[in-house]
Amino acid sequence: MGSPISQEVFLARAKARFGDKYDYATMLYKSFKTPIKIRCRIHPVRLIAITPEKHLETTGGCKYCLKMFRSQRNGPE
Ligand SMILES: [Zn+2]
Repeated sequence: MGSPISQEVFLARAKARFGDKYDYATMLYKSFKTPIKIRCRIHPVRLIAITPEKHLETTGGCKYCLKMFRSQRNGPE
């Protein structure tokens, strides 16, 4: 808490969590809480606008991946 998260740290965390799943080439990183635009490599139909913070907290922001994730778990949500 407190110390700002740089683009390098964010990318390192994102890679650790998602591997190569998301494409960050379109990202303009300003801060951890400023929305960025990224692309899901599996579902590159549209850019995902999400804050870096949310990206790391969730399945990444791709609603198609979220659907897949939920159906894989097979549980009611
Ligand atoms: Zn996806």
